[in-house]
Amino acid sequence: MTKQENLRKIGELNGKCPICGEETFRITYHIYTTPYVGDIIIETGKCSTCGFRWADVGLLESGKPSRLVLEVNGATELNAIVVKSAPAIIKIPELGVEITPGPAAQGYITTVEGVLLRILEHIPSECLKEGSECYAKVQDIREAMKGNVKFTFILEDPSGKSSIFGEGVNVKVEELQTEDIEP
Ligand SMILES: [Zn+2]
Repeated sequence: MTKQENLRKIGELNGKCPICGEETFRITYHIYTTPYVGDIIIETGKCSTCGFRWADVGLLESGKPSRLVLEVNGATELNAIVVKSAPAIIKIPELGVEITPGPAAQGYITTVEGVLLRILEHIPSECLKEGSECYAKVQDIREAMKGNVKFTFILEDPSGKSSIFGEGVNVKVEELQTEDIEP
């Protein structure tokens, strides 16, 4: 099977832009078929008036609200594929990371290492300076990306559309209780 056959466009929709309010927000839908978790839906939006861009991803057949837990011990897990849907919360207790999505939250597909890179890219710039209070946290994340730190990667998704998968990757799936979901 070629890459083309794995990814197919299923439709487009014009709607109201959440930023500027014009009816020029175009969302395109693609289905991506994976051997591990079946079909993934990819939604990408762009407003031709203000340039606002938006994206979300998720399993086509979404399940119950779920908590996915991955013990990261090295390269195998760092290279695991992460499908993070817009409402999913990322938690890494050992690194003091908890990312709760805001109203304009997006979904994306990356690897565990890619999630750590995103975290580093969004960290306040003063934390990158040696001697700052949060510099140690940056160093911990950098060491984790090299595989020198073991940590627990948790995705809590009230929509049940997120996934973590890969060869040799062992993900624990727990049901997310409603009291776990923050309003
Ligand atoms: Zn707009």
